[in-house]
Amino acid sequence: MINTNNQYNHKKIEWSLIEEKWRHKWDEQEIFNSDPDFSKKKYFITVAYPYPNSPQHIGHGRTYTLADAHARYMRMKGYNVLFPMGFHYTGTPILGMSRRIASGDKELLETFQYIYHVSEDAIKSFVEPIKIASYFHNEIKLGMKEMGYSIDWRREFTTIDKLYSKFISWQFNTLRKKGLIVQGSHPVGWCPKDQNPVSQHDTIGDVEPDFNEYILIKFKLDDGYIIPTATLRPETIYGVTNLWVNPNVEYVRIQIDNNERWIVSKEAARKLEFLNHKVAIKSSIYGKEIVGKYVEDPIRKDLIPLYPASFVESNNGTGIVMSVPGHAPYDFQAIEDLKKNISLHNEFVGLKVDVTPITIIGSDDYYYADVNDSILISPAAKIISKFKVKDQEDPQLEKATNELYSHEYYKGKMLQNTGKYVGMPVSVAKDMIKNEIISNGIAEIMFELINKPVRCRCGTECVVKILNDQWFINYGDKNWKKLAHECLNKMDIVPEEIRQEFNYVIDWLRERACARKSGLGTKLPLDEDWIIESLSDSVIYMSYYIVAKYITNNNSISEDSSKLMIHVNNVDALNDSFFDYILLGNGDVRQVAAECNISISLIEAIRNEFSYFYPLDARHSGRDLVQNHLSFFIFNHVAIFARENWPRKIVVNGSVLMEGKKMSKSLGNIIPLRAAIKEYSADAIRLAMLSSAELLQDADFSFDAIKGIRSKLDDIYDIALEYSMVKSKFGSSLFSSIILSEAKTEIEDRWLLSRLQNHITDITASMDNLRVRKALHDILYLLDQDLQWYRKRITAKNRDDSLIAVTLSIFLDNRIRMLAPFAPFISEEVWEIIGGKYDSIIFAGWPIVDEDKRDPVAEESEQLIINLISDLQNILKVTKISPTKIIIYTSARWKQQIYQKILEYILLENKTNFGDIMKELVKDPETAKVKNDPKLIRNMIEDILSDPIEARNRRLKLTFFDEIFPLNDAKKLLSLESGNAQTEIIVHSEDEIQKYDPREKSKYSRPFKPAIYIE
Ligand SMILES: [Zn+2]
Repeated sequence: MINTNNQYNHKKIEWSLIEEKWRHKWDEQEIFNSDPDFSKKKYFITVAYPYPNSPQHIGHGRTYTLADAHARYMRMKGYNVLFPMGFHYTGTPILGMSRRIASGDKELLETFQYIYHVSEDAIKSFVEPIKIASYFHNEIKLGMKEMGYSIDWRREFTTIDKLYSKFISWQFNTLRKKGLIVQGSHPVGWCPKDQNPVSQHDTIGDVEPDFNEYILIKFKLDDGYIIPTATLRPETIYGVTNLWVNPNVEYVRIQIDNNERWIVSKEAARKLEFLNHKVAIKSSIYGKEIVGKYVEDPIRKDLIPLYPASFVESNNGTGIVMSVPGHAPYDFQAIEDLKKNISLHNEFVGLKVDVTPITIIGSDDYYYADVNDSILISPAAKIISKFKVKDQEDPQLEKATNELYSHEYYKGKMLQNTGKYVGMPVSVAKDMIKNEIISNGIAEIMFELINKPVRCRCGTECVVKILNDQWFINYGDKNWKKLAHECLNKMDIVPEEIRQEFNYVIDWLRERACARKSGLGTKLPLDEDWIIESLSDSVIYMSYYIVAKYITNNNSISEDSSKLMIHVNNVDALNDSFFDYILLGNGDVRQVAAECNISISLIEAIRNEFSYFYPLDARHSGRDLVQNHLSFFIFNHVAIFARENWPRKIVVNGSVLMEGKKMSKSLGNIIPLRAAIKEYSADAIRLAMLSSAELLQDADFSFDAIKGIRSKLDDIYDIALEYSMVKSKFGSSLFSSIILSEAKTEIEDRWLLSRLQNHITDITASMDNLRVRKALHDILYLLDQDLQWYRKRITAKNRDDSLIAVTLSIFLDNRIRMLAPFAPFISEEVWEIIGGKYDSIIFAGWPIVDEDKRDPVAEESEQLIINLISDLQNILKVTKISPTKIIIYTSARWKQQIYQKILEYILLENKTNFGDIMKELVKDPETAKVKNDPKLIRNMIEDILSDPIEARNRRLKLTFFDEIFPLNDAKKLLSLESGNAQTEIIVHSEDEIQKYDPREKSKYSRPFKPAIYIE
């Protein structure tokens, strides 16, 4: 007999032993090694390879675990899945870390010692960068094995391997042949201390330095000095009324490029130097010294004043800005505030604030003119009153600014006071005006970080630098962008809502510096002084996994197998023709073999394997890599590979929070993965990562959740043990001889297996869209609810027959197979306990729906009992009766016929209106009598509309459903659930003439809603 007491006495499950056992078995059987098998469909999954400068912590695990669950799912669906892993050594972080160790950086040393528990000896060795990489490489790899990731480790490599460098050289030579590597002067994010370009990998907090092109418009002071102001809206030059200068900031007078004299903030002078200007500082001057002076506006030639403004920051632009109160809500409000407060400024006695906003752009919503076409109120004033802005500090100002800016950009037209630009849309005029004023020498371009401060890992604040004669990948190339869009349009993006972000990034990307002066990696083949940086040598390496399998490591290998491998000593002989042939199919194999000193058969074997596994079927990564890595991945594939080898799918996931908070060293909530596995088991961690959030959301990792999951897994294990005992009681011969037939099974057996088919359908659909949270919820909780109910039913009926074991065997078998991609260790163990037929549950395959087991009558029957118990318990709770007798009345036959008719009106004719339905019923002589009982019809309509869609559809197909049979079947359970096992349960149909109905309750019965009378 199955133990129906839900309080299991969990035996202490030795998770670590189970995990070790299965890791060993998988290794022994080489279960995750995949080679071409032309009889099977392939599925190639990769996930961004890790950077070995620290061990993995809980936060890193989500993307890898998701990719692994995906790989395992596809394997169970019958695909030949390739899931490989490499290690990314390239770049500056490892180098930077090694320098920090050498300099005795206390924070870093403590992190290694106390968070990651690295031994002192190992830490000492970290002054050598490569020691850091290989130490954490090993740690991460062990962690991945302990997590049960189903990786083909034969393909492992690092990005400083000799052959990998050959591969990256080939990538760059190929890009250069296509004209996509350019030399020129372009802006880059830059660390002044390291003298190196910086990107996401090089900055603290992993932020990509993001910069924009500002237009510096020059205003002339009467002493010959020029005041340049930075703006993103050059078209508003026609509406400038004044400049803003911060009275308390120290500015400098500079000689720039030997031809002009400017006044800018100190910070701006430094930034201009990085932008290739020759800057000589002459003297300094405080802002207050020029407040009240006038400058000449370069277009209208009017004299406009310099007003004081503390909101102007010295580090933004040049530290002095132009004021366009007609169109910039901030400027409008600042003028208003200044008018009010000028009397408070003792230092500016006599300063007259006398400015009228100039409107230069008109649009439907923000253009108010009288009959003479003179503007009555400026757009900025209008929007400020709309947003009810109070003063300069009001956060609404930001919203008002964004709205007006975007409105005028898309819908605005230039007005009469803008010369030849009148009538032109702002979106067009903007670029024309910019080009005109730059060519006239009235303006220049200045690049500026828009997400500052961005700090390099060395701690230095980054700037924008124009790099001269440097190497760039030209992501700005129009034709290249077109191909990238074409690829994206054909790809699956999961979740789909992230597609727009890719479109945006593809449009927005421009030339990108692809080399660094320092760091680990491959030398730029065009210019060996430079090293290819880490976001450029990690974009097509998925194809390298095919090659990596064929290279021997440094250990000597047997003569025999060496024929099928590239010996590491032979790598020098390989050149671009090798990769041209393997990855592009170009060239003559005999010639390649001769040039590279390897056999034709080996080259063909690698080429075949590439043809089999490519294109990549799914690329997994965290969401933060959309704006660089994942987009570069698309760009480089479309540039290098033929269309049939373009990637097919990208899967993006959010990050992991710890107890609702971001993980950070300062919060002390970083948990190393391997320590967590020891404490909680790999399966529990995998489930906690994947079950708490849908893909894009941040997953919240909490110890309560993980304990809950752990106990769920304990239950699943215990059920399997109990089941194996039941099974042994009946003997295994039983299972081959028993055929589940209607005659032998009970309602609850048929119900459990029918429900199981619904779950398989739902879970499979969820998995196909990688809605893993939903899938796991169904596997862990919905299936569990069904199992609990089944137990309740068989216990109440005192069943002790072999059919229970048969039913449970089907249920457990399917459930554990659906759990297997997520919790591989316990799934294998349970599979073995319940006598699964294969060496590994992976070979058992993903469950397939058995249509013969769908049983709508059984589902309806159990639902009726479940609903009745709930109704009964509600009544008992309200009335506080201790029952001795409960009489249940099922509805009369004529009510059931009417119910069926109403169901047809609602589902087939889409009629839900009471009046319409009533009219139809009255028209039909068979049902005309309902006109005396409108309340009954009203209730039935409500019953139907409040039922789930699947219940309505199910009932539509059941032309007749006998409620008495299941209610009689559940009498014992109904007594138990009434709170008194002795309660007598009587079931009557309303149609019965001789029924016990002292209170005439039976007339209240409705189909699927029996009436209840309690004594
Ligand atoms: Zn730096």
